[in-house]
Amino acid sequence: MKAFEKNIRKVEPYVPGEQPQHKVIKLNTNENPYPPAPGVAKAVRSTDIERMRLYPDPTSSALVKELARYYGVEENQVFVGVGSDDVLSMCFLTFFNSEKPVFFPDITYSFYKVWADLYRIPYECQKLDADFHIVKEDYYQENGGVIFPNPNAPTAIYEELDFVEDIIEHNQDVIVIVDEAYVDFAGKSALELVNKYDNLIVVQTFSKARSMAGMRIGYAISNPTLIKYLNDAKYSFNSYTMNQTSLLYGVEAVKDKEYFEETVAKIVETREWAKDQFRELGFEFPDSRANFIFVTHPDHDAKELFEALKKANIYVRFWGSERIEQYLRVTIGTKEEMESLFAFLREYMGR
Ligand SMILES: *Cc1c(COP(=O)(O)O)cnc(C)c1O
Repeated sequence: MKAFEKNIRKVEPYVPGEQPQHKVIKLNTNENPYPPAPGVAKAVRSTDIERMRLYPDPTSSALVKELARYYGVEENQVFVGVGSDDVLSMCFLTFFNSEKPVFFPDITYSFYKVWADLYRIPYECQKLDADFHIVKEDYYQENGGVIFPNPNAPTAIYEELDFVEDIIEHNQDVIVIVDEAYVDFAGKSALELVNKYDNLIVVQTFSKARSMAGMRIGYAISNPTLIKYLNDAKYSFNSYTMNQTSLLYGVEAVKDKEYFEETVAKIVETREWAKDQFRELGFEFPDSRANFIFVTHPDHDAKELFEALKKANIYVRFWGSERIEQYLRVTIGTKEEMESLFAFLREYMGR
């Protein structure tokens, strides 16, 4: 071993879902099957090449302004980043500096553990119950901060707002982050609590409900004090996180509320239909309020099914990790894509 080896920060990285470069039915990374708002396409055509020569606006003011208007908050309550992964990572760096462990569920977005390891933040996973629900009392113990997604991933379970508020209320000495990547498919957002609790940060993304995973836009909404701390950390790291085009297209996507709501409604409708289809085939799953369903089958091994699907060019997500070895996460695609999936499953199961 070289002497310098001992001073290298070694981490076990997050493993993203596959992005195959050939055409497949892609139900493995919770992308939106519909294109972004029509206004984005128009902005694409009129993009001024001149803009590329210049650094982007470090404050992302156009996008911040549009998000503030959309959510009815002040501009100094909005922080934007390169996908919510960037925003969440900045939050870990900025707010989780206690000697006490940060709490998050044992089955959840696997990036939390990676950021905690990367930044040397102590953490403790709280076990979901047998039905994969968060046990809120587990979060009453002393800790260095709390983060959980609502709906949770990959379970797709949504907890009502009074449940979320109870966790925030019991943790007023630390920062509580609610990761709402899928909330638009689910129900009420914790955004209405940000002016009530000064320890709350709500994080959302353009990647799922807004059909823009490829542009990398995420945001946090909180009180001006915590947003300032986030910006201070960001400007100590990289001032120009958001590129010109993301800023431009992001604004157009937020402007078109009608298109957004229409697309979300279509996915929710396909999801409810897909639940019936899965049920008829004997699959079991927690009730999904997201754009994916977390399924298991009593008679079919998840890994074998995952591989058979892949061979048929249908990509879903499989982890094989503790407690979820027999589960697959299936993103809701278009009705046609889902019909192909169910046609395959019927044949696979000899039905
Ligand atoms: C997809 C996802 C994110 C990250 O999304 P970005 O594409 O980085 O905005 C964050 N949290 C959860 C729970 C997710 O599922």
